[in-house]
Amino acid sequence: MAATTRLLSRLALVTGGGSGIGRAVCQRFASEGALVVVADRDEEAANETLRSLSRDHKVQEHMAAVVDVSSKQSVENLVAIIQRRYFQPASVCVTTAGITHDDFLLRMEEEHFDKVVQVNLKGTFLVTQAVAAAMVASGVSKGSIVTVGSIVGKVGNIGQVNYSASKAGVQALTRTAAKELSRYGIRCNCVMPGFISTPMTDKVPEKVISKMTSLVPLGRMGEPAEVADVCSFLASDDSRYITGASVEVTGGLFIG
Ligand code: NAP
Repeated sequence: MAATTRLLSRLALVTGGGSGIGRAVCQRFASEGALVVVADRDEEAANETLRSLSRDHKVQEHMAAVVDVSSKQSVENLVAIIQRRYFQPASVCVTTAGITHDDFLLRMEEEHFDKVVQVNLKGTFLVTQAVAAAMVASGVSKGSIVTVGSIVGKVGNIGQVNYSASKAGVQALTRTAAKELSRYGIRCNCVMPGFISTPMTDKVPEKVISKMTSLVPLGRMGEPAEVADVCSFLASDDSRYITGASVEVTGGLFIG
């Protein structure tokens, strides 16, 4: 997709911006004129994304920040840092920070269930709540929050009882947030990627990758940039009449 300027001067926070889909979202948003806050628990990774961002438009002062989305204190600090630096809250937020810790249901340790839910679901809650509160306090007129679910939150996946449950929760959280926040001019939508080539899926055994790929009607894994394109649409005014939606970016995987 050709770059546009539809996010010109929008301040965008991207959690998990240090890697994979989050990094691609940061790059896409910057190329469309946004000021990007790259937030990740991995500082060096966030800085690497920061260095890769385009600065073709005036006043594109991007920044990198460390955050642990599963910590309320850390998320609130991040929102405060953004306010101090830009004198306004982010009006766009994409919550890509996420983890996996796979195992079969019968072997899943409670600790690994809790950790994945804490980062993926509670982290999305904490970021959505803090960012929305800052938007409401500043009277933002065009807020857009894009959460990142997963197609497995809809259909389930062997070995991912924790992850699939957390992602189903993200989708439901997003629908509820959309209902509650529309009166404040804030839209909330969920992207549901299928099988995307990132460091997260690099951990998946080759055998599983080729089996999954064979099930994708478009015949290949997706690229992070293909998810970023959808996030950019949902962040921008081009989607101004869309809220509470879940958009599958799966190459047709599990369409039925
Ligand atoms: P990724 O390459 O592993 O990137 C995720 C980033 O989030 C990493 O930089 C990670 O840091 C960071 N992160 C993890 N826990 C965090 C925390 N508590 N606070 C702040 N940052 C944290 O994964 P990805 O494939 O791009 O996935 C991005 C999102 O898309 C995730 O929510 C994932 O569940 C979702 N998704 C991915 C796929 C796929 O096929 N790749 C499919 C569906 C949904 P560390 O590297 O230090 O962990």
